Amino acid sequence: MLELAVLGSGSSGNSALVCLGETRILIDAGLSARQLCLRLENLGVAPDQLSAIVLTHEHGDHTRGIDVFCRKRSIPIYGTTHTCAIVRENVKSEVPWHHFEAGDDFMIEGVNVESFSVPHDAVDPVGFIFRCNKSSVGVVSDVGHVTRMIIDRLKGVNTLFIESNYDEVMLQNDTHRPWSTKQRISNRHGHLSNDQAAGLVSAVASSDLTRVILGHLSSDCNAPDLARRVILKKLESDGYPNVQVECAMRKDPLPLCKTALESSDPAENASEHISEEKPAKPDQVCDSTIVSADTPQVSVEEWSQTEWAF
Ligand SMILES: [Zn+2]
Ligand SMILES: [Zn+2]
Repeated sequence: MLELAVLGSGSSGNSALVCLGETRILIDAGLSARQLCLRLENLGVAPDQLSAIVLTHEHGDHTRGIDVFCRKRSIPIYGTTHTCAIVRENVKSEVPWHHFEAGDDFMIEGVNVESFSVPHDAVDPVGFIFRCNKSSVGVVSDVGHVTRMIIDRLKGVNTLFIESNYDEVMLQNDTHRPWSTKQRISNRHGHLSNDQAAGLVSAVASSDLTRVILGHLSSDCNAPDLARRVILKKLESDGYPNVQVECAMRKDPLPLCKTALESSDPAENASEHISEEKPAKPDQVCDSTIVSADTPQVSVEEWSQTEWAF
């Protein structure tokens, strides 16, 4: 079964990890190389063991660690042709680039990766769905508005990572940003508000959805409790009160967790080809309270902001 961890999420850096046994796929590399290594090691994953890095888009908070991280190790990087063309300008190390077009599906060591276009202020931004035979993870990071295609592609996933960037009232009341910046954040190629994220979750929720992770939260125009409450309220009103909702923050990585409930049929579970997995409790996908106890806290470096959003 696929597992998902979030190494960090926010305007200063984004990276997540999808695993299927020995297959380890990093989604974006927007943390510093040092932080990427530290946080992977905290998850028990040696940085050299990565199977691939897949890129959602070229913004610095999703790519800034690539150059240094890849100097010592040869890890294939998958991105759309347009995204790779821009990222390559800032990567001096020798990297095996793998281009795809938005909408393509491809395999990485037993994991099927589906890509699809999303609206965002980048050259060719995409979302992903990772699948193996028993589980699926949808990942939509920066996205300005919800499209019919996004809903159609994400429908039925077991675990969903989406951004929930800002609370509309807090953004409107913010006194630090000029109106032009606020408008760029909230326009159709900016970022999703909590209410927009709730609308997307509601549109794709099904009985197969077990977990929602909210990411890219603004540090001063949002709050984890608020974002979580908005999404939970929507899920409850839609008849999905048991979906687990967590926030991924820049300082607090989320540990590897299974992305779907295990089948109660032992024969089905046995058909999975992952041998080293520990059995999950049938009624638990992941307990977010484990995070602070089991995950060593790592300091977060200050990065310059290269994205206009926050
Ligand atoms: Zn972006
Ligand atoms: Zn971003």
